[in-house]
Amino acid sequence: MTDIKSMSRPDLAAFLSELGQPRFREKQVFQWLHRGVERFDEMSNLPKSLREQLEERCTLTVPQIARKQVSKIDGTIKYLWELADGNCVESVLMRYKHGNTICVSSEVGCLMGCAFCASTLGGLVRRLTPAEILDQVIFTQKDSGLPISNIVMMGIGEPLDNYDNVMRFLALVNDPDGLNIGMRRISLSTCGLVEKIDRLAEEQLQLTLSVSLHAPDDATRSRLMPVNRAVGVDRLMESCRRYFDKAGRRISYEYAMVDGVNDSDWQADRLAALLKGQGAHVNLIPLNNVEESPLKPSRRVAAFQKRLESHGVTCTVRRKLGGDIDASCGQLRRKAMGAAASYNKKL
Ligand code: SAH
Repeated sequence: MTDIKSMSRPDLAAFLSELGQPRFREKQVFQWLHRGVERFDEMSNLPKSLREQLEERCTLTVPQIARKQVSKIDGTIKYLWELADGNCVESVLMRYKHGNTICVSSEVGCLMGCAFCASTLGGLVRRLTPAEILDQVIFTQKDSGLPISNIVMMGIGEPLDNYDNVMRFLALVNDPDGLNIGMRRISLSTCGLVEKIDRLAEEQLQLTLSVSLHAPDDATRSRLMPVNRAVGVDRLMESCRRYFDKAGRRISYEYAMVDGVNDSDWQADRLAALLKGQGAHVNLIPLNNVEESPLKPSRRVAAFQKRLESHGVTCTVRRKLGGDIDASCGQLRRKAMGAAASYNKKL
């Protein structure tokens, strides 16, 4: 069976031409897929015989809403989607002044093992297909009735660990005949896989790259993020500088503030020195409590911010949305897994 929504446009065109279809059919099918049809039979401008052929040969992914929570505070909506194989991922729709923004997941679980993160507690189950990433945008928009203009790839999983599928997703969601979401309205967040950052620089995409730094020194970063043990902060920063030079886009650095671990003045000074000359932006994130983790939120966020700014680093503190609905990714899936172990089906 062909996963038709994951196909690139040239592949879709070749597939339909093999079925003996005229060239204009490709655009019709593509548009239906991106509007979120749930059955091929809904593609009402296609001949019935073609709809039947598609039904026989293709899978049409339609995630089911396993849970939905709406924040009473700020209207943030969180979805837990059940995929065709019973696995679950989360998406969060945030309502900003500059437009509705969805945070999407790229994998079921995560391989990276960051000490503060709920998504990685059960390890990596599997990577999502392009269609499964895209479906989060399509079906969130369809269910909520809210037009989505911005995407952040900051949900469950490490997007650069699922590189090819994420690149395909970006091309699909950017397509003018599909959701037409501009690259400048998309952010991709990575824990810092240097070879993949170098590869991404070659693609020359206009998206915003966010790097989860969380510490400016190897001892602290390796403690918080096992991925640092093999590479180290210096090599990561070299790769970030190459990205900045090549792609011409400033990197945004994420820094989750952990009490007594990465929130001291010397670390602010070291961080500022590290980012010198990059025009970089730092996003300080108040740590979200994860029950299973002994790490606690820092009480020095404002002082750390002031110290960074005294070195000329531009820096914002992330506003917390959906605080009443566990909106931070990974948490809802964890809860659901506790309720029903079958949510974590290994293939
Ligand atoms: N794997 C990617 C994207 C997913 S996480 C990455 O590492 O960037 C999105 C952001 O949330 C990352 O910066 C991540 O480090 C951060 N994060 C994870 N758990 C958190 C927590 N408990 N509190 C605050 N930020 C957290």
